[in-house]
Amino acid sequence: MKPRRFDYVRPDSVEEAIAVLAEYGDAASVLAGGQSLMAMLNLRLAEPAVLLDIARLKELDTIRIAGEKVEVGAAVTQNRLKDWPELAGKLPLVAAALPLVGHFQTRNKGTVCGSIAHADPSSELPLTLATLGGEVVLRSRRGTRALAARDFQRGMLTTAREPDELITAVRFPVQSTRRVAFREVARRHGDFAIVAVAATVESATALRIGVGGVADRPAVRRATIDGAGAVKDFFESLAWELEGYDDTHASARLRRDLVRRVGLLVVEEALRCAA
Ligand SMILES: Cc1cc2nc3c(=O)[nH]c(=O)nc-3n(C[C@H](O)[C@H](O)[C@H](O)COP(=O)(O)OP(=O)(O)OC[C@H]3O[C@@H](n4cnc5c(N)ncnc54)[C@H](O)[C@@H]3O)c2cc1C
Repeated sequence: MKPRRFDYVRPDSVEEAIAVLAEYGDAASVLAGGQSLMAMLNLRLAEPAVLLDIARLKELDTIRIAGEKVEVGAAVTQNRLKDWPELAGKLPLVAAALPLVGHFQTRNKGTVCGSIAHADPSSELPLTLATLGGEVVLRSRRGTRALAARDFQRGMLTTAREPDELITAVRFPVQSTRRVAFREVARRHGDFAIVAVAATVESATALRIGVGGVADRPAVRRATIDGAGAVKDFFESLAWELEGYDDTHASARLRRDLVRRVGLLVVEEALRCAA
């Protein structure tokens, strides 16, 4: 299939971009890397009257450290963040997750913010942002607001973004630990995760755990490590709590089993990492 006809707008500034969104609202679609949107246009799952191309807006192509956060602008591609020299030092969990996002070619075009805007429950970047307690920056003519990742993603491909809002950046809190791990099970390298688990060690006894691919959005929990059985019990009850679902890739039962098994491996790996 081919997309329906649409007008194409390439603004020269963020101000211009939000003016277009103020005028067209949900009749406009923001085009970033196009790695998800182009497929949706071709399948006519999205039928915008206007395509607003922000990929070449220089003011959004920035990675900057702002206090205790790393702010990634909406035109920054996944490969640009992956190659950022400070990534492993400031955001080791993101460094662990990024190589699993699609393929080299898709990461060359796909943006970090586009992945978070798309809100696929199996995507690695929304899971990482949620696990780290990051936030999404939204701008419109009405002003700018920052939403916590847990409040931004509302469900499968559904977010709290209003139709006139542009995501201008996401902010990841700088990590004070290198004790992290990220693993996933996918059919092939570069596929979306069937189940993904992220872990970051917060103190001698506390971990933050994120699970993707099982519920309709990332699930983030704190776990206390007080003995070998505690981590096993934690994932056992999380697997039942999240339930999982059946699709062509896996049954709900397999998903629950993967949560238990991948969860244990991820925690072991995070605890083994040098502090
Ligand atoms: C072969 C292939 C394999 C892939 N594998 C994976 C994978 O394993 N894991 C994974 O996570 N992803 C995967 N992807 C998807 C990829 O990561 C996309 O890059 C990502 O989902 C969307 O980013 P994008 O910049 O391309 O956004 P686009 O496709 O341009 O946009 C996606 C959606 O977000 C909206 N949007 C984008 N930017 C903004 C913004 N600044 N403000 C408001 N709305 C915005 C768009 O309107 C659209 O609805 C794969 C894609 C392909 C083609």
